Amino acid sequence: MPATSEPTTPVAVPTPETLVTLLPGVGPRQAARLEKLGIATVRDLLFHLPRRWEDTREVHPLRDLRPGPEPQTVRARVATISMRPAQRRRMFLVEATVEDDTGRASVIWFNQPFLVKEIKRGDELLLSGKVELGNRGLTLKNPTREHVRDGQRHVGRLVPVYPETEGLTSRFLRERIEPLLPVTQAIDDPLPPRVRAAENLLPLGEALRQVHFPDDPELRDRALERIAFEELFLLQIAVQRAKRRRLAGAGVVIPFDAEVAKAFTASLPFRLTDAQRIAAYQILQDMAADGPMNRLLQGDVGSGKTVVATMAAHMAHAAGYQTAFMAPTEILARQHHTTLTRLLEPHGISVRLLSGSTTQRARREVLDGIAAGHDTVLVGTHALIEDDVVLAQLGLVVVDEQHRFGILQRQRLRAKSTVMPNFLAMTATPIPRSLALTMYGDVDLSEIRELPPGRQPVQTTVVAPYGRDDAYAFVRQQVVEGRQAFVICPLIEESDKLEVRSAVQEYERLRDEVFPDLRVELLHGRMPGKEKDERMQRFATGQADVLVSTSVVEVGVDVPNATVMMIEGAERFGLAQLHQFRGRVGRREHASFCLLLQGSADDEGSARLRAVAETRSGFDLAEIDLHLRGPGDVLSAEMRQSGLPNVAVGDLLDQAMIGRVSDAASQWLDMDPDLAGHPPLTVRMGRYASVYDLD
Ligand code: ADP
Ligand code: MG
Repeated sequence: MPATSEPTTPVAVPTPETLVTLLPGVGPRQAARLEKLGIATVRDLLFHLPRRWEDTREVHPLRDLRPGPEPQTVRARVATISMRPAQRRRMFLVEATVEDDTGRASVIWFNQPFLVKEIKRGDELLLSGKVELGNRGLTLKNPTREHVRDGQRHVGRLVPVYPETEGLTSRFLRERIEPLLPVTQAIDDPLPPRVRAAENLLPLGEALRQVHFPDDPELRDRALERIAFEELFLLQIAVQRAKRRRLAGAGVVIPFDAEVAKAFTASLPFRLTDAQRIAAYQILQDMAADGPMNRLLQGDVGSGKTVVATMAAHMAHAAGYQTAFMAPTEILARQHHTTLTRLLEPHGISVRLLSGSTTQRARREVLDGIAAGHDTVLVGTHALIEDDVVLAQLGLVVVDEQHRFGILQRQRLRAKSTVMPNFLAMTATPIPRSLALTMYGDVDLSEIRELPPGRQPVQTTVVAPYGRDDAYAFVRQQVVEGRQAFVICPLIEESDKLEVRSAVQEYERLRDEVFPDLRVELLHGRMPGKEKDERMQRFATGQADVLVSTSVVEVGVDVPNATVMMIEGAERFGLAQLHQFRGRVGRREHASFCLLLQGSADDEGSARLRAVAETRSGFDLAEIDLHLRGPGDVLSAEMRQSGLPNVAVGDLLDQAMIGRVSDAASQWLDMDPDLAGHPPLTVRMGRYASVYDLD
């Protein structure tokens, strides 16, 4: 491998800002690997935290060694050491004999030939590994080793084990990090001293030292607590500031009128569920309060969110305000337009639609009506809040799916008018409440956790690989009965490695071999948006029987006649995503089915699929997902979306911790609303500014 940079002189005294490439022992190859982990400076390296610790503090005399799988640790002198080739070619064994005052033992290392140079007869070693009874007596197999003279970084203490990364071993990281521990002194602590004192938290430098190389488990736990507290504290400061700022600003007030609400519910062909009532009440009260609403309405597909949002639009209309209702795609915009028209026409409100296919003339007409203020409800894609659309009386913005947090939209809206409209985001992919409270503290939550009565659950079955033909037979039977089916494939292009059928190949196979007599349509993400829309529209209007698709159909398109959702390689999808797919069927009176085809039969995958089959509620699945994957994984997906840094150790399931941090942040802001009191805190808040619209 050619060197990617000039050889550099190692620095004598590193600072937090020193580049890792200047550290002794970091070559271009390791530098590249570190860069992959986002580690460029000494500071980054010090914040690369261990995943766990191996406890090798207990050192046994050699005579106490017993064969067994648990690692045992000894301190011994090297009596002999040699290397020989193993039976397998190109493999070397290093064998040693070690002794202490109580006895002798053998040691064997596989494929680490360099050890014969590193370890000499008479060297004093700490060794930790499994013990087996071999033909040379009790033998330590592939133990972690360290010379006693080198101090204890690898054996004989609580030893940090870092998240696994190809080519970057924990041993390498320990050797780089340990000498840097004094640098922690030079890192400013973003936690104000009085917060730290009140919460009895370790200073940052000590916490970093104790988290990498703990003196004992208690100090390690205090270090973790301190680091988690800090991450959550910064987050809370950001979200609470955003919230204070929002509530202090001028917002459109839409007074609550009980008669208007009653008129709306009376016009519905059904009774609202209790959950809908509560959500509607929260929204209407929020719109009536000072300060603009910023609310997220979570509820499974079909739980009746749109109806609730329409009720809010109706209230806004009665107060003389306009509503912009945004959908992520053209098809969904048209669908919402139909729904809203049906619900609002009886109240004399004509709902207007702006979509890509609206003709220039019609568009002009819609814009004029809106600008003049006699049209009040406008449905469309995000283009709604851009350019030439003038909504002088805008009082409510509803955003369906995708743009859950609507940060950009809000910024744009703020630029549009001096008075902030109320903002309601809707999602059918709930995030667990604990997570929402932590990450999106500026967003108030409403949840609809029940479905309207009389809904048939979608019968969900996990299908083993050999059951595919039966599944096809089932699809055919449904089509013969007049229904339609989705077939979802995980990837677009063939990939032997992942053993997943590509959508294109699957489409051709189904069309030519499996269902030659049926009308099969294809949809994938590489198609231009317009073509996707057209094909989806053909399926929605019954001009195709089977729609083969990648995950692009995840967004909420309503095809009431579709009754089968067949998902290939189902274990490759997240639980929430599978639930979303399932929500595409079972939307009307027909009994509906979800077939989860298992591509491989590993246990963890099976457990996840069973969870989907056995759980009806998206809220419950979100919690299960959080527990199965842990907050780290669930969060990082969420955070990639919102551009937030990774919360390394924050135990976000811990409500007590969240409450404690949130109180501390709120007290700090009461005292220091402009964050002038503790400069290191101000500096660290910079990265949250754009995410939380604090500029
Ligand atoms: P969501 O937006 O949550 O997917 P919708 O508001 O579109 O749900 O409602 C889904 C379907 O259920 C619509 O056909 C709607 O008319 C109907 N619906 C909504 N609320 C109720 C209810 N309380 N009782 C019966 N049907 C309802
Ligand atoms: Mg919906």
